[in-house]
Amino acid sequence: MKRKTITKAITREGVTLHSGNSSSITFRPSYFRRGILFYNTQRDPYKLHPIPLSPFIVSNTSFSTAIGNDYRIYTIEHILAALQAMEISDIIIEVEGDEVPVFDGSSYCFIEMLREAQIEELDEEITPYIIKYPIWVYSEDKYIIGMPSSQFSITYSIDFSSKSDLLPYQVAYFNITSDIFIREISRARTFGFLEDYENMKQNNLARGGSLDNALIYTRESILNDEIRYSNEALRHKILDLVGDLYLLGKPVVGHIIAHKAGHSLDVQFAKKFFWHEKANESSENIKRILKDFDELSSKLKLSSFEKIKNN
Ligand SMILES: [Zn+2]
Repeated sequence: MKRKTITKAITREGVTLHSGNSSSITFRPSYFRRGILFYNTQRDPYKLHPIPLSPFIVSNTSFSTAIGNDYRIYTIEHILAALQAMEISDIIIEVEGDEVPVFDGSSYCFIEMLREAQIEELDEEITPYIIKYPIWVYSEDKYIIGMPSSQFSITYSIDFSSKSDLLPYQVAYFNITSDIFIREISRARTFGFLEDYENMKQNNLARGGSLDNALIYTRESILNDEIRYSNEALRHKILDLVGDLYLLGKPVVGHIIAHKAGHSLDVQFAKKFFWHEKANESSENIKRILKDFDELSSKLKLSSFEKIKNN
């Protein structure tokens, strides 16, 4: 696979989800294998402090993914999902403010921007991150597991039955190619619960949230007139995971199985994956990993593991 950038700069303005301020975002071409670089041009107008993409530079994961410290930028995950889908490896992203505009709450606007800026293939190869043996992270009943596979695919399950009757346990599987992501995932909007809204606003969260950029669930219903997919909320969780995994800056090859995950677990997984990729594991070590994995899968009683492992 070749590295890719865009051919020209493009800017869009919009309201941000959490602070509720207006902000703008500019994509610019990038060459010389510099990867994906962010700038907060409000705090760093001379662009002296690039924020290189990495799971190790994530500074906040509550309700969105933020990178950088002094020049922090919030809510980058929907851009990253679009970059992953369009296979962009090299780009400069300038955000005029501390948070990326939310637009319609999905990744689709960023995909349109990238298309408009036109994608250019660079004369250099990019090697993907390949999952060679099981990798997992978990916290209470939430988990993410990566399994070897010839392609990038995600199985995701959620259960918000304690919050809304419309979001009981549900599961979906997608083979994440560009086309499938754009068609089936990219337009899924972020979501929230009416019962949390006042509380979030008091904590300076979701101040720009509205029915134009989020699905709002009540206990028995949904406030939006239309939904884009029957399981839109679940698909948005997949979108977020795709975006957070792209903190690695390279495509991933493997099957990711996630249950009730979120930005914090996604980022933990990306970090662990990074170290696994770096480690030249000995056969003894891999045996130990597989044994640990057997213990974990029996503990979690996941029949799907068996099926996947036996395939
Ligand atoms: Zn999201």
